[in-house]
Parts: sequence; structure tokens; C-alpha cells
Amino acid sequence: MKIKQFLFCSIGVSLLLASCQKNEIYQDGQQLEDELLLTKTELAYPDTEGSIHTLYYGLTEVTVEKINDTYVLDGDIVFALDQLTTTPSNDENRSVGRTGGRWPNNIVHYSIDPNLPNQQRVIDAIAHWENNTAIEFVQRTNQSSYVYFKPGGGCSSFVGKIGGKQDITLASGCSTGSTIHEIGHAIGLWHEQSRIDRDNYITVNFQNIQQGRAFNFQTYAQQGQDGDEYTSALDFNSIMLYSSYAFSANGQPTIVRTNGSTYNTQRNGLSTGDIQGVNIMYPGGGTGGGNTCDGVSAWSSSQNYQQGDRVTYQGNLYERTATSWVLLGPCEAVTSDICDGVSPWSNTQSYSQGDRVTYQGNLYERTATGWSLIGACG
Ligand SMILES: [Zn+2]
Repeated sequence: MKIKQFLFCSIGVSLLLASCQKNEIYQDGQQLEDELLLTKTELAYPDTEGSIHTLYYGLTEVTVEKINDTYVLDGDIVFALDQLTTTPSNDENRSVGRTGGRWPNNIVHYSIDPNLPNQQRVIDAIAHWENNTAIEFVQRTNQSSYVYFKPGGGCSSFVGKIGGKQDITLASGCSTGSTIHEIGHAIGLWHEQSRIDRDNYITVNFQNIQQGRAFNFQTYAQQGQDGDEYTSALDFNSIMLYSSYAFSANGQPTIVRTNGSTYNTQRNGLSTGDIQGVNIMYPGGGTGGGNTCDGVSAWSSSQNYQQGDRVTYQGNLYERTATSWVLLGPCEAVTSDICDGVSPWSNTQSYSQGDRVTYQGNLYERTATGWSLIGACG
């Protein structure tokens, strides 16, 4: 069967080839993993082609693919339907990106769908982020904004904190490296090749890109998103970089170095450049505990500040926006008690899946069949 399928695919035109590959990916998580290793391109819906829509992100026109009631950009970046509008909108709350949508105090709350297979990849990816950056991942108790790792047909994430529950979907073929990549989106990273200065480093071969997919190769600015470059040059080692063959229609490279050569991409972990950029976005004194103002300098009247800069002033932490300073909160010890805000178990209450309680000094979560121990409070 495999051989027949191969022959059938290989004699078909490229459209047939694409549909054969899609079927295989759909049927087998391993195929998706192989595909990811080959192209280093995470996809939210590898087995589905959606319809292309031109909509507005704030005042700017943006082209996206609509699949399964979400809008998809760049293959694995998703937008909720209400993040984009059919007419230009002045609503500043729509800003999600590398300059907006930060997680306050470097803390990302999260929870994992009990049905997600191979949860170790999430644990490992989170450990990698915590070991290499100042961002902390804290199991959600009752926080309204959090990342929810759940099963899905591909790998996908929103970019930055969007407010409320935001999914990271992980098909079984999404590796620990792809999970690190999707978390990168959730904390605010765009794809590396969407830098506005990317033409100094790479050439996009639009003639090789699948029909209707060229919009995936725009810079974040062309896509109407907010953003900034936090490192001085495009990093070919970034875990956020597309491969040379992403969205290729004909097997020829879609992205090459300016000298015309292809390059290798990696999904092993954050690069030195990734870590440098993230440390500017999320400065801090390291992982775990500490104070929310650790590593932040006091405001000075003799210094010029840029968007994204943080200062302390009269015991509070502030961040510079385009027009003013935003109060992030008082300088205070970071609490990392997983039981904060969770009520003790009560025998007079009925619980449903996902509910959490404390009991004899431990935190528990309700599953479909019983209570699952999350860990000790404190
Ligand atoms: Zn991505």
C-alpha cells in the first residue's frame, strides 16, 4: 500500500503529491513528526486547507487562512475570530505581538489538558524555558489568563498574552522542540524570518511558495502586527526560524541566504540569540522566586527610554509604551505557591473535571474519574 501510494504520488502533479502527503500526515503522528523534521515548519492544521481572507488587524489589512473557526497566519500562529475585523478598527486592545501582549512579572500561568498525550514534552519544554530565561511557568489555579496545552491536529499558538484562556495545540507529532517553539509564540515571539530587516540576510523565493501561501512570508510589519527587533541580526540558529523549504510548492527552497545558499534549521532548543532577545523582553534576575523588580533600574530623568523598557519608580514597576508609562504593579516578592487562591475540598460541593482543591497541604485536580495530585502547596 505504501509503495502504491508512493508511485501514485510520484507520477501525479504537485497538487496530487500535496494531497497524498496530507493524508499520510493525517493518518499518522509519526508522519507529522517526519514532516516537521524535514521542513522545520510547525503547522496548526497540517491536514486541512482553509479559505484565504483579507481582514483588518486594527487599521492594517492582513491576509490569513480561516480553518476550523480560527484564523491562521504563518502556518502555526492562530488568532481568535474576534481578534480580526472585516473593517478597519481602532481598538488598541487588539494589539498582540512582540511589543504588546507581555506576561506581567515574567509569569506565565498554564495548565495541561488531562487528555494530552506525552505530557512530558510540555514539562521538558517548560523546564528548558525556565532554565534559560527569566520567565517562570506556574500551574494555573484560578487565574483568568493562562496557556492551555491541549491535543490538536497540528502545532499552534497565539502570539503573546491575549487575555483569557489561550490554547497551544500539540498533535502527537509535535516534539519537545516544537513545543519550545510554540511557547516562544505564546510569550510574544514572531517567526525569525518576519523581522523587518530580514532582507539583509535572506531572500524569499516567492516563485517557489505554494499558491496562496505567500502571505506567510511577510514581515510582522507587513502583516500589520506590532513588533520590534531585540537582537541586532537575523539568527540562523533561532528555534523560531522557518526552514529553507517551508511551504514549498515544488521542492525548491522558499528561503535562502542572500548568497543563494540554503541553511539548516534546528528545533533542539533556544539559541543564544533567542535567549538574548527574550532577556530583553523579559528581564529578570533568573528563575524562581525573587522580586518582581529584580534587575530593573530605577527611572532616571537623564535617560531616554524606548517602548518595552522597564523601570522602577517609588516602589512600583513600570513599562514604557509608545506614548506613556504603564504601571505593572508594586515591587514585591514573587509568590509561587501553587495553592494560592484555591479553596479546600468540601464534601458538600460537587466538582467537575478541571476543578482544583487543596486537601491536607496538597493541590489536587479533578479528572474524569477521580482526583489527580498536582503537588504540595508552598
Ligand atoms: Zn511558529
